[in-house]
Amino acid sequence: MNRVLIIGAGGVGTVVAHKVAQNSDVFEDIMIASRTKSKCDEIVKAVGNPNIKTAKVDADKVEELISLFKEFKPDIVINVALPYQDLTIMDACLACGVNYLDTANYEPRDEAKFEYSWQWAYHDRFKEAGLTAILGCGFDPGVTGVYTAYADKHHFDEIHYLDIVDCNAGDHKRAFATNFNPEINIREITQNGRYYENGKWIKTKPLEIHQPITYPNIGPKESYLLYHEELESLVKNFPTIKRARFWMTFGEEYLTHLRVIQNIGMASIEPINYKGQEIVPLQFLKAVLPDPQDLGEQYTGETSIGCRIRGIKDGKEKTYYVYNNCSHQAAYKETGMQGVSYTTGVPATIGAMLFLQGKWKKPGVFNVEEFNPDPFMELLNEQGLPWYEKFNIDLEL
Ligand code: NDP
Repeated sequence: MNRVLIIGAGGVGTVVAHKVAQNSDVFEDIMIASRTKSKCDEIVKAVGNPNIKTAKVDADKVEELISLFKEFKPDIVINVALPYQDLTIMDACLACGVNYLDTANYEPRDEAKFEYSWQWAYHDRFKEAGLTAILGCGFDPGVTGVYTAYADKHHFDEIHYLDIVDCNAGDHKRAFATNFNPEINIREITQNGRYYENGKWIKTKPLEIHQPITYPNIGPKESYLLYHEELESLVKNFPTIKRARFWMTFGEEYLTHLRVIQNIGMASIEPINYKGQEIVPLQFLKAVLPDPQDLGEQYTGETSIGCRIRGIKDGKEKTYYVYNNCSHQAAYKETGMQGVSYTTGVPATIGAMLFLQGKWKKPGVFNVEEFNPDPFMELLNEQGLPWYEKFNIDLEL
């Protein structure tokens, strides 16, 4: 019997729970565990499948994870808690012989720095244990890596230029809200930007480089160059890449709020003393901002995320654009969550399905682009994230 343990009961965890429950031929026994058990119980109610088990676990504590793993005996853990928990969950997986999948790379809590080195360092131990770890299996990272692998396999002899373009043209009708965990989101956006060119990383000031990009079914939107974690693995796994960049859209209103939040010190991760209690301003801010899980009901519009690629095929230059558009309302109807949680939770479910079907199983720690993209691309179409291709168009970038 295939057993899956979902850790984390936020927006993404809710979508994963719906999707694994819809695919009960593959996921035969399901458990959701998180810090707050009542949230897991609510998800079970929303999914409407009383056979899904729930548990309380503090995933910062390896010992707690180990006793939960020993009790439930999962084949694979889908880690959709926060990036801070990646390493403790991987440690527990090694201790108990459990396979691993996540959607965001490890980040230390006290430093806004995310990179794969910490998790890649587990490769030999997972390999020796005969266990698979699939890293970064959301949309970006995740589908963007699979799109790149698919382009490399079917459409190019050499990929030279890669631009990942991420647009959220949705309207949640709130003055300011983030689409996933506010702490993780704001840490990511307020960092310096970075892109890869000719073997080097070029640093930019936060949101310094921007330009309009036209998104299918949406139109032109101002898009900002950010550093995003999949760039690190993609330039390593596709060494023909000369330049790799990541772009994300932000509205004026969002950026104004963000600027104020930073200027008044609320984006800081340095603890301060408030009336005798130590608090981290950014964590306090998270507590007063709208919960991303509550945005779904009023959310209209859609997301559009894809890869714009230029390279060589049969000696000729070629351009290629592969993308998905996801409607917030359709995502909400199906899972009660908005499009950003949906576009993350569906690929995580697909990665775990492919592992359990033996198609994405190889001992060691791997990024998604190191597996065969074909079965994943097929399942994207079947599981709610259909993709479209455009050839030899003006990429605008
Ligand atoms: P949420 O903040 O909504 O949910 C996080 C969940 O993890 C909450 O249920 C929280 O519990 C739980 N959690 C936090 N700390 C612990 C802990 N120590 N032990 C057990 N459970 C814990 O986040 P999202 O659902 O929006 O995002 C989940 C993950 O997905 C994040 O890592 C995020 O970076 C990633 N992500 C990836 C994307 C991609 O495309 N690759 C896009 C969007 C998100 P509690 O309810 O008690 O706080």
